Amino acid sequence: MKKFSIFSLARNALSHHEHWPEQWRSPAPKPAYDVVIIGAGGHGLATAYYLASLHGITDVAVLEKGWLGGGNTGRNTTVIRSNYLWDESAALYEHSLKLWEGLAQELNYNLMFSQRGVLNLIHNVHDLQEATRRVNANRLNAVDGELLSMEEVKAFCPILNTSTNTRYPIMGGTCSGGAATRAMTPSPGALRGRRTRAAWTSSRIASRVRMMRSWAGIVDVCPDASPVIGKTPVDGLFINGGWGTGGFKATPGSGWVLAHTIATGEPHPLNAPFALDRFTSGALIDEHAAAAVAH
Ligand SMILES: Cc1cc2nc3c(=O)[nH]c(=O)nc-3n(C[C@H](O)[C@H](O)[C@H](O)COP(=O)(O)OP(=O)(O)OC[C@H]3O[C@@H](n4cnc5c(N)ncnc54)[C@H](O)[C@@H]3O)c2cc1C
Repeated sequence: MKKFSIFSLARNALSHHEHWPEQWRSPAPKPAYDVVIIGAGGHGLATAYYLASLHGITDVAVLEKGWLGGGNTGRNTTVIRSNYLWDESAALYEHSLKLWEGLAQELNYNLMFSQRGVLNLIHNVHDLQEATRRVNANRLNAVDGELLSMEEVKAFCPILNTSTNTRYPIMGGTCSGGAATRAMTPSPGALRGRRTRAAWTSSRIASRVRMMRSWAGIVDVCPDASPVIGKTPVDGLFINGGWGTGGFKATPGSGWVLAHTIATGEPHPLNAPFALDRFTSGALIDEHAAAAVAH
């Protein structure tokens, strides 16, 4: 892959970035490979990367019917956060966030990864209870999280209207400091630690931007709203899917655990709970669709 030194960046900037070489090769397929990955989205590429870099498995083909990252990896909101409620999810997404934090340096590639924090607003008592539960659960898992009062939300993000005279008055919020987006977004106000005042309401954004293009994607969802990542009953066939709207942030973490599973033949403790057979064993991550449980 072409290296991105300050000199090559400056040189290409002068020619309007029109002369960068392609960042991948398209060799003629061989009759056989040690590993064949179907789909060059982030997850497929991350799996190939960690197979090579951590497990020494380099005879890998990544088959892509379109172009690299042209699936959901290239059409999502790019929110990267680690504030998941359940222990199993918290461990996997926290691992992924940690990998994201070092990935640009590791790849020598500007991923436009920008840790500005994520602020979720609390509008009613139910929100407050849910938020309190989530922050406490995150903290028990050593995951960054903070419960903010309405005054703290206002101090954190001054543009928010915190008067009680609005349709959905703000009672407070939760904040995860390490959360990020992969692209730059406007950030009003000053930095507070690693967090910025990142909460722009959608109406504020919508009032300022002009629509250039639109995009959509299909999200694959399992009954327990959690991914499947690991072995299948077919020897040598592995599966990675069902990430819903959470798969972008999981990209390096998912590739990392799947590479481990392929290389060793066994799931890593981080992806063991996300096995396909949980739908027959009943060991679901969540009980999303269950009746008679407090949702
Ligand atoms: C609107 C929207 C917003 C989202 N927002 C977020 C967010 O903010 N944060 C977050 O974490 N996640 C988000 N997601 C989810 C996230 O985008 C996906 O979970 C993630 O990108 C999935 O990555 P992937 O590599 O598994 O799949 P993809 O990126 O879809 O890659 C699959 C690839 O496989 C190729 N392919 C398919 N079939 C074949 C075949 N038979 N042969 C060869 N190639 C094939 C496709 O062309 C594609 O390139 C969002 C999703 C959507 C749709």
